[in-house]
Amino acid sequence: NRRLVLAERPKGEPDANTLRLETVAIPVPEKGQMLLRNEYLSLDPYMRGRMSDAPSYAAPVDVDAPMIGGTVSQVVSSHLDGFAEGDWVVAFGGWQDYALSDGTGIINMGKNPENPSWALGVLGMPGLTAWAALKHIGQPKAGETLVVAGASGPVGATVGQIGKILGLRVVGIAGGAEKCQHVVENLGFDACIDYKADGFAETLKSAVPEGIDIYFENVGGAVFDAVLPLLNTLARIPLCGLISQYNATSLPDGPDRMNYLMGQILRKRLTMRGFIVFDDFGQYYPEFASEMGAWVREGKIKYREEMIEGLEQAPEAFIGLLRGEAFGKRVIHLGN
Ligand code: NDP
Repeated sequence: NRRLVLAERPKGEPDANTLRLETVAIPVPEKGQMLLRNEYLSLDPYMRGRMSDAPSYAAPVDVDAPMIGGTVSQVVSSHLDGFAEGDWVVAFGGWQDYALSDGTGIINMGKNPENPSWALGVLGMPGLTAWAALKHIGQPKAGETLVVAGASGPVGATVGQIGKILGLRVVGIAGGAEKCQHVVENLGFDACIDYKADGFAETLKSAVPEGIDIYFENVGGAVFDAVLPLLNTLARIPLCGLISQYNATSLPDGPDRMNYLMGQILRKRLTMRGFIVFDDFGQYYPEFASEMGAWVREGKIKYREEMIEGLEQAPEAFIGLLRGEAFGKRVIHLGN
């Protein structure tokens, strides 16, 4: 059983010393357990938080313990009702070839699921995040303007496409011309603005002539600075993620804009609400799965995946994800 354990807690950006590859015996399931062989491992920005022992909504991974992570896995042997050898499951198998599970929180996809790895993206956690936070916090109404940060990523791409289905004007924000072109041409957003290009704030302003009614926040930092003055009265902000800050080791430079932000929230009567997907929206999973499943089957929602071969590539691929190198959902194919 090859596994990647947390070797040390990173300061700032994770590096080659953060994780350590080691080989241990394949565990043996006892009564009430099953053995899973992990086929696909999801790489997600939240994993940076689990490497750190700063206070958070979830406990950190212990040093020398395997990194946690969502997986699509196959049951090797089972002492559990409802799970049989050969079943494909969505699990939290972690960064390793094999894992034990007692069945808690595991979804059984049966013997022959179509595109099993998509259960880590558009049909799984990131998809539920997009769907639930847009609907329940964004409160979208046809004709409104939705701006989505991180527009080419698994969450952002899904948010924007749902926005189009619901009749909104949708403007994405992404890094670089290639991602922006994909967001408009393949995903059908009305526009996409490259936040790395000169004049970003002005270009964004001209792309939202009627202001912004919903801003789906995935990144924070300079992108939010450009969005804030463009928000309309009673705008809603699902605060999903702040990836631009995850490797930060200190507060950002510059004047303190806290009072400006508070003033904007007050005068424009903004609603900004953070959430943790399974804690806040886990109960909607069946409704999500049925609606999103239909949209994906009908081709109304498109999905881009970056499949990377081999567990040993996971650390580098994760460091790249935090640097903005991912283009679509990053998944590791373990294939052991
Ligand atoms: P993404 O693939 O969107 O995340 C990686 C992308 O973030 C990069 O490719 C990059 O795209 C973008 N990015 C923007 N600003 C920066 C920056 N300063 N540095 C590096 N990258 C940047 O991931 P997901 O779609 O999985 O997640 C999107 C957000 O949602 C994340 O913040 C995540 O933590 C959050 N999330 C929150 C959940 C919750 O329960 N609250 C659940 C799931 C996700 P670009 O090139 O366009 O900059």
